[in-house]
Amino acid sequence: MSRTKQDVRRRFRSAVFSRDGYSCRVCGFASTPDRAEADLDAHHITDRHEMPSGGYVAENGIALCAACHLNAEAHHRGEPVPPGFAPAELYALIGSSERAAREAAGAG
Ligand SMILES: [Zn+2]
Repeated sequence: MSRTKQDVRRRFRSAVFSRDGYSCRVCGFASTPDRAEADLDAHHITDRHEMPSGGYVAENGIALCAACHLNAEAHHRGEPVPPGFAPAELYALIGSSERAAREAAGAG
């Protein structure tokens, strides 16, 4: 991974964790700024490969604990998505939408 991509990824994670209060937005599991990198994932709601520039924008990211991240990834694996983990439901939790995410990613 190039230096630039590392920076983009780090900024994405930092922005998502900060906005979401260092907590899992689905189950409420609470982490801390020091522990967030280990405790949480910055999930891409719309898959990286389907978004302009990889979709590394806060509008496409949501902080999830490991268990909730597995549930959310079911969508990207093409498997049945547990209730509450569909992309539209995740976007609603962060006050975003696929359209807002695409606009932000395209502009960035
Ligand atoms: Zn969770």
